[in-house]
Amino acid sequence: MDRYFNLYSYCHPVKGCKRAVVCDLQRNIIQPIPLILYDFLDVSRSGTYGLLTSGMTQQERDAIEVYISYLYHNEFGYFSHRPIDDSLIELPVIEDNSQINNAIVDFSATSTHELEPIVGELDMLGCKALEIRYYYQLPLDELKRALLITAKSSIEKVEVCIEASVECSVKTLVALKNEFPKLSKLTLSNTSENVIYKHNGLVLISTSEIIRSENKCGVTGDLYCIAEQRLYWESMYFNNCLYKKIAVDKEGYVKNCPSMKERYGHVAETTLTSVVQSDAFRKHWDITKDKIEVCNQCELRYVCQDCRAYTIETGNPYSKPLKCRYDPRK
Ligand code: SF4
Repeated sequence: MDRYFNLYSYCHPVKGCKRAVVCDLQRNIIQPIPLILYDFLDVSRSGTYGLLTSGMTQQERDAIEVYISYLYHNEFGYFSHRPIDDSLIELPVIEDNSQINNAIVDFSATSTHELEPIVGELDMLGCKALEIRYYYQLPLDELKRALLITAKSSIEKVEVCIEASVECSVKTLVALKNEFPKLSKLTLSNTSENVIYKHNGLVLISTSEIIRSENKCGVTGDLYCIAEQRLYWESMYFNNCLYKKIAVDKEGYVKNCPSMKERYGHVAETTLTSVVQSDAFRKHWDITKDKIEVCNQCELRYVCQDCRAYTIETGNPYSKPLKCRYDPRK
C-alpha cells in the first residue's frame, strides 16, 4: 500500500520498557499497544505502509496488519497520500499566567486558621481550583459560609471533603450545586455506602471510608490514569501534582501539599505570595515523570497522577510513588 498511516493529532503513543500505549486525549482512552506497533508508528512518517512493511518477516507483517487495522477501525488513525507535517502532531501549549492554579486547604475541628483571608490571597495569585477538606462533621451553615466565600472569589472550581452528619446527607449536599455552581466535587466520608452520584455537573462521592487526616492521599497507579490533555501536557514538562499548587495544612502551615513534611511558615506569620516566590517552594515543580525512578520506564507516565509525599524511598525526591502497585518492568 503506497499510503502513510498517521495517528490523529490528539492520539499520542508512549513507550514503556515492556509495553506501550496510545493516549487519545480527545476521547480519554488509553489504548495498550505492543512495542512492535509503537516502533512502527514511530517511523510511520518516514515511509508508506508498503515500504515500511516490506523489510519485515511474514509473521511481523501479519501482526502489523492486524494492529493497524484495529487502530484504523477504532478511529485512532487514518491513511494519507503524504506524510503529515510535524506541527500537526505537537501537543498544543497550555497558556497559564497564574502564579498558582490549584490549592488545598485543610481543617480539623481544632484548626485556628480562617478560610476567607486564604481565599483572598489565592485570588490574587490567580488560583482557579480549590479543594477544602474538613476532617470532621462540619455544620451545614458553616459549609455554606465557606462556599459563599469561594463564590465571591475568582476561583472557578471548588471541591469539598467532609464527614457525613445528620444535616449533611447526600440529598442536602446535592442540592447545594444549585446555590453554588462552582462546586464540582464533594466527598462525603464515613457514610454507610460506597456510591458515586453525578448530578447537574456535581460529582458526589459517598464513601464508608473515614477520612480524618491527609494520610489517605497519594493513591496512584495504573487503575487511576486519565488520558486528559492538561495532565498529559503538565506531566511532560512539570510535576503534575505539585506544579503551581499550594496548600495550607490543618495546623495552618503553608506547604506544597498537606501530606508533605516541608513547611514554609504559618499563615498567621507569612503570606502565600512570599512563599510562592521562594525557590525552596518551587523546587519540586520540575520533577517530571521522566525524572522519577521506575515511572520513567512506564508507558502510563503522562497520564498518571504523581505523588511526592509518599515515596518508596523517604528523602529521595526522585523515588517512585509508594502507593502505586504497578510495576512497568514486569
Ligand atoms: S509506575 Fe509511576 S507512572 Fe507508572 S503507574 Fe505507577 S506511579 Fe504511574
